[in-house]
Amino acid sequence: MNTAVRAAAASVLLFGCVRNPATGKLQLDIVSESQEVEMGKQAAQEVQQTMGTYKDPKVEAYVNNLGQSLAKQTTRPNLPWQFHVVEDASVNAFALPGGPVFVTRGILGTLNSEAELAGVMGHECGHVAARHSATQLSKAQVAQLGLGLGSILSPAVASVGQVAGAGLQVMFLKFSRDDESQADKLGLAYMANDGYDARSMLEVFRTLNRVSKLAGGGKLPQWLETHPDPENRLGAAEQRLKEIKHDFTGAKVNREDYLRTIDGIVYGEDPRQGFFKGQLFLHPELKFQVQFPEGWKTQNTPQAVAAISPKQDAIVQLQAAGQGTSPEQAAQKFFSQKGIQRGQAAQTSVHGLPAVAAYFAAQTDQGQIGGLVTFLGYNNTTWAILGYTAAAAVQQHDAEFKSVTTSFGPLTDAAAANVQPAKIQLVKLDQPMTVEQFQQKYPSNLKVEEVALINGLDAPASPMQPGQTYKRVVGGPPHDQQKQAAR
Ligand SMILES: [Zn+2]
Repeated sequence: MNTAVRAAAASVLLFGCVRNPATGKLQLDIVSESQEVEMGKQAAQEVQQTMGTYKDPKVEAYVNNLGQSLAKQTTRPNLPWQFHVVEDASVNAFALPGGPVFVTRGILGTLNSEAELAGVMGHECGHVAARHSATQLSKAQVAQLGLGLGSILSPAVASVGQVAGAGLQVMFLKFSRDDESQADKLGLAYMANDGYDARSMLEVFRTLNRVSKLAGGGKLPQWLETHPDPENRLGAAEQRLKEIKHDFTGAKVNREDYLRTIDGIVYGEDPRQGFFKGQLFLHPELKFQVQFPEGWKTQNTPQAVAAISPKQDAIVQLQAAGQGTSPEQAAQKFFSQKGIQRGQAAQTSVHGLPAVAAYFAAQTDQGQIGGLVTFLGYNNTTWAILGYTAAAAVQQHDAEFKSVTTSFGPLTDAAAANVQPAKIQLVKLDQPMTVEQFQQKYPSNLKVEEVALINGLDAPASPMQPGQTYKRVVGGPPHDQQKQAAR
């Protein structure tokens, strides 16, 4: 869960009911440039509020300068371009209509030169210039009207229960193959015209391939989910580079500048944003802890921390319900939503914290659901703990819902309160060695394959050159916690 959640909570609660019920096609056709810019601005705000930005002025300024320079190469240099780094460990980049472009701190820690980053950002600028994301946002708005994202929640409950609004959905929608191909082509042109060695884009695709392989059959990095087929795109980019016959002699790569900029950047999940110790969730920044039932599968997302029962028939989640809002006000807002019936009241305080708790029922496409919702005040924030299941199963899960609610309390573990994230550290080599030897001499809290990956190298046996600067990852929570925190 992200610290930015507190500020965002109020808008998140209201989100979802303000959408224009136009069809995607109609919307697309009527989107003027000013509307496109406005949509992007709103979605960008939501992204920043829900994901949070990575707060490092040096890194922010660097990314923005690079982005502004690339934007001048596009056919739409006068858009209100903005470039941000989001607080997200995954390898990802995305663009919104009309100018906002985001890169994750995860991709910054993974890339190895300014030219590689220019390739990624040039590609995203290509989506904006070609208005691909305007189309996507229209589709996302329509998708949200249907709430067809596998949610078992009614729209009313979803306004508390959802973990992503339209701004975030945009990122998870796939662009068409044609759009991707066009953005790749535009990105290469922008970076080349801006003086960068566009061959670096090949390194980006190789790195993405490695990220994909290292992730195994499991979860793909998000940039690959939304930008499929890095292998094909690598081939296509090689072909394109041959065709344009551009002479890249002396073109900018800026490896050292880039590495110096990201020196010290947080790598991997940031335990300051909450982590699990078994079923106990601890949040060092927000200073609370909460215990989830044994055997339930847990997940920490920027907006909420949630757990699903072993049979996947019940969910409990905790999220901020508002700052400057009392538990009573938050409860009132929740129950004033259409389609939600208020049931019997439950306990009114949790370990002395002011709380309003009640059972509720709601009609959804999948039938009647019910559960227990508790709003409690802690540290100037009202928190919502929402447990729900099929209406007939509420009794069966009641003890579990209550156990989560009553386990909420201040963070007491000093070590957990002071936990620090892992960070990138630079090492300049004075002799040749393999990645494997590097890992022995300068250990990282990572597998050796991942050390190779973040250095743009293929394998543990790959050579590293003397005089070059490389990355290692130091510090961070003990290994088991890190694994637990991984999404
Ligand atoms: Zn793309």
